[in-house]
Amino acid sequence: MKTWEENIRMVVPYTPGEQPNQPDMIKLNTNENPYPPAPGVEEILHNMPVDKLRLYPDPTAGDLVRAVASYYQLDENQVFVGVGSDDVLAMCFLTFFNGKKPILFPDITYSFYDVWADLFRIPYERPVLDENFHIRKEDYFRENGGVIFPNPNAPTGVEMPLADIEEIIRRNQDSIVIVDEAYVDFGASSALPLIDKYDNLLVVQTFSKSRSMAGMRIGFACANPVLIKYLNDVKYSFNSYTMDRTAIAAGVAAMEDVEYFRETCRKIIETREWTKEELRKLGFSFEDSKSNFIFASHETCPAEELFQALRKKHIYVRYFPKGRTHNHLRITIGTREEMEAFVAFLEKYLNHR
Ligand code: PMP
Repeated sequence: MKTWEENIRMVVPYTPGEQPNQPDMIKLNTNENPYPPAPGVEEILHNMPVDKLRLYPDPTAGDLVRAVASYYQLDENQVFVGVGSDDVLAMCFLTFFNGKKPILFPDITYSFYDVWADLFRIPYERPVLDENFHIRKEDYFRENGGVIFPNPNAPTGVEMPLADIEEIIRRNQDSIVIVDEAYVDFGASSALPLIDKYDNLLVVQTFSKSRSMAGMRIGFACANPVLIKYLNDVKYSFNSYTMDRTAIAAGVAAMEDVEYFRETCRKIIETREWTKEELRKLGFSFEDSKSNFIFASHETCPAEELFQALRKKHIYVRYFPKGRTHNHLRITIGTREEMEAFVAFLEKYLNHR
């Protein structure tokens, strides 16, 4: 080992889902939305004044902050925006998880949390989900340096009742509790109404899923103004201009089209419920999902075999081979047509193996 290597911040990076690019593919592997962004987004992009790109964007991303605040009926100073919720969450880890006690998050959850914790040298413990992949709220009633979990959880899709979330927040008033609501718009209850009641709560959401904007990279956090100020202090110590002009303008257009947003979520929920029925008929089992994916295992066919067979047909789902998730597939909900093709393939495959 070279001497300078001792000075390198070595980390094992997060592995994002594969981004294949086959013309005939059915892509159900990274929880994207199968529908395009709201029509207003396209209009904004067509009419973007290119000359303005000479100029730095508004470092506060004020228009976007105001659009989010207005939709959720919050004050501007209760909203923070970033480059996808990954950026927002990374800033949150850096800002709020700065103590000596371990932070807590589930053993099976979004696999970026331990990567950020390692990157920022934050100690952590991972309470084990119960045998049905549910978070046990009692595990979060002990001393800690912070708490974070998604609701619904990923990759399980399981929702925690809001009363249990509130209990976790209430019993942790000496630390910050972050609820990562990347998938909340697909039928779970948001903790947003609790931010006025608890000054230790941060709710993080994204435009990547329910607003069909994964490629644009917009996420946001809502909390009381004190937490938002601390978050901004860290952001401005790192990169003042996180949100570019295009993202700010397109994000506003996406946020303003409430009807399109509701209709898109409704269609995905409807297709999810249809897919659940079909998967049950084919011998799959899963915990109830309130997200835009289903985390399922088959009664006889190993997940890895299915994963490979689907892949050969250019149907991409996500497979987490390690530990307790090794016999499950995480299946993103696509359009009804995509899910029909997916189910038809499974039916044929399972009947002929
Ligand atoms: N939180 C969870 C639970 C996720 O699954 C994801 C998607 N990978 C994210 C946050 C980050 O999404 P984005 O950065 O696109 O907002």
